[in-house]
Amino acid sequence: MSALLEQMYKEILLDHQRNPRNHGKLEPATRTEFGHNPSCGDQLEINLLLEQDCITAIRFTGRGCTISQASASLMTNAIQGKSKSEALGIAQAFTQMLRTGESNSSLGDLNALIGVAKLHARVKCALLAWQTLELALG
Ligand code: ZN
Repeated sequence: MSALLEQMYKEILLDHQRNPRNHGKLEPATRTEFGHNPSCGDQLEINLLLEQDCITAIRFTGRGCTISQASASLMTNAIQGKSKSEALGIAQAFTQMLRTGESNSSLGDLNALIGVAKLHARVKCALLAWQTLELALG
């Protein structure tokens, strides 16, 4: 990875840590799901509004490490307005990226978390939001 790209990814993560997107509770919500990553202590609650197969709104609350919270913020940004199957496709591609360490241009800003692929203990932190989303959509 080039130093410039690495710097850009760092800035995206810092931005989402400092100003989390879609943070808070959503009312009314059609789906609510809770996620917990015991290896780090991260906790997450996801509320979303599924209308005719489209995720028209999504919010999250939680506490835990910066990776888990930044990933949740990036996740809500990426899937708001998407259909259920599009969202699940993104979740799958993101999971694949973290397991293989290979970037995926279709994932846009989500590539900012690629550095986590090398930190094996933290992969669960980055995946928590996505696993919770999959449960919420299941
Ligand atoms: Zn964590």
